[in-house]
Amino acid sequence: MINVVVYNEYVHELEDESIAAVYPKGIQGCIADFLGANDDISVKTVTLGTVGEITKELLEGTDVLIWWGHCAHEKVPDEISELVYNQVMCGMGFIALHSAHFSKPFRRLMGTTCSLCWRDADRERVWNIMPSHPIAQGIGDYFEIPAEEMYGERFDIPTPDELIFLGWFRGGEVFRSGCCWNKGLGKVFYFQPGHESNPTYYIPEVQRIITNAVRWAAPIYRQPSIECPCVPSLEENFT
Ligand code: ZN
Repeated sequence: MINVVVYNEYVHELEDESIAAVYPKGIQGCIADFLGANDDISVKTVTLGTVGEITKELLEGTDVLIWWGHCAHEKVPDEISELVYNQVMCGMGFIALHSAHFSKPFRRLMGTTCSLCWRDADRERVWNIMPSHPIAQGIGDYFEIPAEEMYGERFDIPTPDELIFLGWFRGGEVFRSGCCWNKGLGKVFYFQPGHESNPTYYIPEVQRIITNAVRWAAPIYRQPSIECPCVPSLEENFT
């Protein structure tokens, strides 16, 4: 069983009726519903209101943490971001969605500003440029998102270890929409679609990609803590 925690700040849905109409159970509820339909995935949700539930103990039992945030990044305590960073170093998977590009844990993991350019109300064609990758399984050459916020380059991230999806927007921009990194012992995936006012997380391809990413990011090996041990020589009489 893969234990997944979905964090969504859950602010837009409570403050804006039109967004609540798109995600009546919150973005976290939508993601939990499609992930939880899989026999091998167990899901817990956390919001900004319950962010204190993200403890070392919770993360030690979490295989993959999914993060959605936008207007309340700064309200997430630095200590929680540091806990997330440390657990990724030890092997936990981390998936940052859409505006989580500016979340504290993602920026901590990337070590760069993670800035980009954006424009609301565009149309996106997502190109599958690494069809052999586990995250791309079940996805065709491309799929389209009729309404999505434009995210454009330059995306200030370290060069991804693997680039799976490339987004093209009607306005002419392109974007590295699906990126993978190995960070410490953990795997990190960034996936760009998912603006709060668009029903992006109901799109079958988007659900398939996030589900694939959970299975890809789940740790194969995990160490209990960050260590830097002094060790004895393996050879006798070593000088
Ligand atoms: Zn957005």
